[in-house]
Amino acid sequence: MRQSQLFTKTRKHAPKDEVAKNAQLLIRGGFIHKEMAGVYSYLPLGLRVFKRIEQIIREEMNAIGGQEMTLTALQSPAAWKKTGRWDDAAIDVWFKTELKGGGELGLGTTHEEPLTELMTEYVESYKDLPKYVYQFQTKFRNEMRAKSGIMRTREFVMKDLYSFSRSEEEFREFYEKCAAAYMKIFKRVGLGEQTFRTFASGGSFSKFSDEFQTLSDAGEDTIHLHRGKGIAVNKEVYTDEVLAELGIEKSELEEVKAIEVGNIFPLGTRFSDALGLKFKDEKGNEQSVVMGCYGIGPGRLMGTIVEVLSDEKGIVWPKEVAPFRVHLISISGGNADVVAEADRLYELLNENGVEALYDDRESRAGEKFADADLIGIPMRIVVSEKTMAEGGVELSGRHNGGTAIVSEDEVIKRIRA
Ligand code: ATP
Ligand code: MG
Repeated sequence: MRQSQLFTKTRKHAPKDEVAKNAQLLIRGGFIHKEMAGVYSYLPLGLRVFKRIEQIIREEMNAIGGQEMTLTALQSPAAWKKTGRWDDAAIDVWFKTELKGGGELGLGTTHEEPLTELMTEYVESYKDLPKYVYQFQTKFRNEMRAKSGIMRTREFVMKDLYSFSRSEEEFREFYEKCAAAYMKIFKRVGLGEQTFRTFASGGSFSKFSDEFQTLSDAGEDTIHLHRGKGIAVNKEVYTDEVLAELGIEKSELEEVKAIEVGNIFPLGTRFSDALGLKFKDEKGNEQSVVMGCYGIGPGRLMGTIVEVLSDEKGIVWPKEVAPFRVHLISISGGNADVVAEADRLYELLNENGVEALYDDRESRAGEKFADADLIGIPMRIVVSEKTMAEGGVELSGRHNGGTAIVSEDEVIKRIRA
């Protein structure tokens, strides 16, 4: 992509009312656009990052047997009334509206009810189970606080997977598999070192659940971290009983701020009982399906990466989620030879399947470098009179800053490695 053609461009300032670092940097870098508090659009650069994160999650969910589908955002009250969750007292973030002909509708905040009800039409016997179904779908939540940029929005995509098992044991086995898949996801997006499985409360579903918390001062949660064991306890459930169960002691724990990037919940038979999702076991006895739910917000994850990995100059994308593999920058100062050389290198990168953002604009060098630092593509190639005189191009990393003059062939080799 030629940067001269790219919609959009960088901005000097984020909106005055934007207080979150992730949104400030993402707006300035041209990744997202703020529509209103807690509501953001994804621009081409931002969507590229989002899609990469989504794809990593998709691959890991498929690897544990997940099957992708999409449920609807529009929700009719019937199923929700059966579980008692249509009431605003049960779910306080509902967006509700009315049909023209009369009757209420809700915009989905989560999808246990419609999916469980849908499953009743497909599950009859033990042979139909287990099933693991997931989606990437827009959720609507009338969140009170919307001060965390894209980490807490009123409209956001969630990957939500639901497991349908024949027994508690079968459920547990999948639950642990999914926990391991989550850790792989956080590692792949570059947050492996900072993210910890965290013992948490189960809300209305069961006594306990697990959250995945990424250490950050921008986090809304407080957790007690055991660095040695790589596990943590959410402040909400930080009791002697829980510590004993986990085999850890107060003195070994640090109190830190963290961002909940994902969570997994045992649902038991709460939804299957309320909505009549049953199966006949091998002996012909009717049993309730044992359920679990597993959520990750790719947008919150993207915001978290920015919060945790950016520096004073801008964003530092990990390789696997960066919008482009390399940022090719030509510093021509009007020299046609430099332009020709940079154009040629851009073609070469394309031919080799290396996705590059090519800064072919006629701007000052300082401006180009500042933009590149803000946008945060991990690898950078600079072509200038100076590098040409030295017989190559300058290759550097956004993060470590070390630079080297290398030949064209060498540059392709190094990037592909
Ligand atoms: P929180 O405690 O932060 O409000 P939650 O416990 O309500 O989140 P879930 O409903 O289980 O979260 O959602 C699963 C995942 O979806 C979360 O771990 C998070 O990654 C993401 N998520 C939840 N709410 C939002 C939001 N308002 N904006 C963006 N992502 C969200
Ligand atoms: Mg939570």
